[in-house]
Amino acid sequence: MRILISNDDGYLAPGIVALAEALAPIAEIVVVAPDSNRSGSSNSLTLDRPLSLYRAANGFYFMNGTPSDCVHLALTGLLSYKPDLVVSGINQGQNMGDDTLYSGTVAAATEGFLFGIPSIAFSQVEPGWSQLESAAKMARRIVEQRFDTLQKPYLLNVNIPNRPYDDLEEIVATRLGKRHQSEAIIKSQDPHGREIFWIGPAGAAKDASEGTDFYATAQGKVSITPLQIDLTHSTQLNALKEGLL
Ligand code: MN
Repeated sequence: MRILISNDDGYLAPGIVALAEALAPIAEIVVVAPDSNRSGSSNSLTLDRPLSLYRAANGFYFMNGTPSDCVHLALTGLLSYKPDLVVSGINQGQNMGDDTLYSGTVAAATEGFLFGIPSIAFSQVEPGWSQLESAAKMARRIVEQRFDTLQKPYLLNVNIPNRPYDDLEEIVATRLGKRHQSEAIIKSQDPHGREIFWIGPAGAAKDASEGTDFYATAQGKVSITPLQIDLTHSTQLNALKEGLL
């Protein structure tokens, strides 16, 4: 098995190092990741400047681009073969509900999926890297699942509670929950007294009911959500057709 690994926290992040170490014994791995933290970059591609690819001492490739750039470049320029799987992460912090739209971690996996390759995004529920070895072991266990019942390519979003491996409850299939709208922007001042802004934190969970990713991880379970990219709202499409004058 040949696996392409990326993330959005950057090639130096403990999460991608742990993921690569966990998967190296079971697959031929190639890591291509951003040179710095690109969390929240979603599916953006860099079109206004050139991209440069570098290789770190540990063999990881890194580049001055987004997670989508990394996977895109790997699949269209760097690799001479099509990997069997693209994995992303392990992200520092959850990607649940509406987070998946903003997430660079999910975006890296999405890029693989768009190229027809089964892809999995991994995130730890809490930031800070606690229990990272446990999450990496779980990621390997999930990569080793056959997913025979799924149509290929599949796109899976996994959230892992920060718990010791033996304390992780079962792996459950979930749907995305929903969040309230984001909290207000944070106003501050730069050293010159000019007003500056920081984007505020994501909103609290609004739909965290049974069956959601929020619910499963709150129970100490590992959540796997199958994602799709078609954003067409079929009900609204029909309503629109009927309502057009
Ligand atoms: Mn991140």
